[in-house]
Amino acid sequence: MKTLYACIQCGTCSGSCPAGRYTNLRTRLIVRNIQLGLRENVLGSDDLWACTTCYTCQERCPRNIMITDIVRVARNIAFEEGHAKKPHLYVAHMFINTGHSIKFADEHRKLRESVNVSSVPPTVLSYPEAMEEISKLTELSGFKKKVLEREG
Ligand code: SF4
Ligand code: SF4
Repeated sequence: MKTLYACIQCGTCSGSCPAGRYTNLRTRLIVRNIQLGLRENVLGSDDLWACTTCYTCQERCPRNIMITDIVRVARNIAFEEGHAKKPHLYVAHMFINTGHSIKFADEHRKLRESVNVSSVPPTVLSYPEAMEEISKLTELSGFKKKVLEREG
């Protein structure tokens, strides 16, 4: 987190951000708000969740600020403080219950076949025995408990 105080607000991160082209995510603004201690502007914002963690900003930042990692930390804090949104909880539930964060549908199968890859991804859909490991991991890491708590 300390590294972000080296930010010179050049905007390279925002200009490079693929998610920012389609959403209101302004990476430079997230960094600025954290510098100014404006917690709620960061933790309560939907924009925090628009980042795809592609690491482009982090690679291009002229001050070597670990922006993507900072976004990830901020998300963890936001989740802990009750800012999880319904879609996040839905995705978390899907993962806990099925080992997938999305529902695998016929359209996905067809799309995969159209580009000549196996019709089913090499995940729990191909290896159902891995579900046991996922259950253990979500249980032992406390992830499952936290998701259930967020639902109240
Ligand atoms: S690229 Fe780096 S220095 Fe420039 S605004 Fe973003 S975080 Fe700050
Ligand atoms: S890591 Fe996130 S904030 Fe950085 S460029 Fe990618 S989508 Fe944008």
